[in-house]
Amino acid sequence: MLILTCPYCGLRADETELHPGGEAHLKRQGPASEDAVFEDYLFNRRNPRGVHFERWRHAYGCGKWFNAARDTLTMEVFGTYPAQVQSPPADLIARIRERRPDWISPFAEAGA
Ligand SMILES: [Zn+2]
Repeated sequence: MLILTCPYCGLRADETELHPGGEAHLKRQGPASEDAVFEDYLFNRRNPRGVHFERWRHAYGCGKWFNAARDTLTMEVFGTYPAQVQSPPADLIARIRERRPDWISPFAEAGA
């Protein structure tokens, strides 16, 4: 069973208390964008075998949205963090790199 710690209220909640919200850190595209870019935003999602960043809502708790990083293959949770950020925190990226040295981050990192 997937257990995540809500970064807002600090509760460890299993997946029955949470609501999945899909891939995290999607860049919203408007209808004025190019067709291929808008189509990609609407329909295409990453579905990696390994490290993945997802949105979750603490539906039966504080009700807030947050992001989680986990391994889709092993279900290992690397951490959770507030949803109001453009990319995962540096300490979380470092923790993932420690556990998965071959992982290639999809995020541009300052100072990396
Ligand atoms: Zn919560």
